[in-house]
Amino acid sequence: MQDRRRLAFPAGVRSLAAALVEGAAELVAPTRCAGCDLPGVILCDRCRRSLPLIEPGEACPRCGAPGGLRWCGECWESDFAFSTVRCAGAFEPPLSRCITLYKDAGELRLAPLLAELAADATAGWLDGIDAVVPVPPSPAALARRGFDHTARLACDVARLTGLPAVEALVGRPRRDQRSLSRGQRLANAAGSLRVVRGASPPPRVLVVDDVFTTGATVDAAARALLAAGVAEVRALTVGRAVG
Ligand SMILES: [Zn+2]
Ligand SMILES: [Zn+2]
Repeated sequence: MQDRRRLAFPAGVRSLAAALVEGAAELVAPTRCAGCDLPGVILCDRCRRSLPLIEPGEACPRCGAPGGLRWCGECWESDFAFSTVRCAGAFEPPLSRCITLYKDAGELRLAPLLAELAADATAGWLDGIDAVVPVPPSPAALARRGFDHTARLACDVARLTGLPAVEALVGRPRRDQRSLSRGQRLANAAGSLRVVRGASPPPRVLVVDDVFTTGATVDAAARALLAAGVAEVRALTVGRAVG
């Protein structure tokens, strides 16, 4: 203990070392605004103000599509297993850039912001929910990115909403969703998730994913959880594909 204390650097040297590390990181990958590339900030004030947020009271309560208070036309024809969805904003710039930079370029400093946007969208909507469950990426996507982007978001959402986070789902191998049509996505996502062996998720859960495109992935998550005895699954995503 005595030796460790003697070897410890004084506070001034430590902060200098931290500043040097930070400076070196800035040289390798300078901080740029995720929306407009303005140097020095992760998201500038102008881009933050122009985030295409969806007012929860002005979106389809079933699928989160902006622009309506009632179920949209598509929802009358779908049989989603989740009960309702909220999405923080439209998957358009600058929000789409933030999400893409976070998950595909590993800009982890955007995670707290994205989680905050998602948590803000849940105001007055979490009554009865017992836990937050991340929708895990496919094994291939996880290997490609090197980190679990939804687990990180879900844990931050759980902390912000005061709910426990339960990693109750695991992904099964499937084709990359990004190049698929709506019909192909639905077929590809079906059965792509399963409940962790031995897990017993609580009765009412909120699943968290990054983007709601066709709803196929959160639907697969909901089906797996309902089959494991969960009574209700709501879904929360940061982005919502529109148009
Ligand atoms: Zn900006
Ligand atoms: Zn809808």
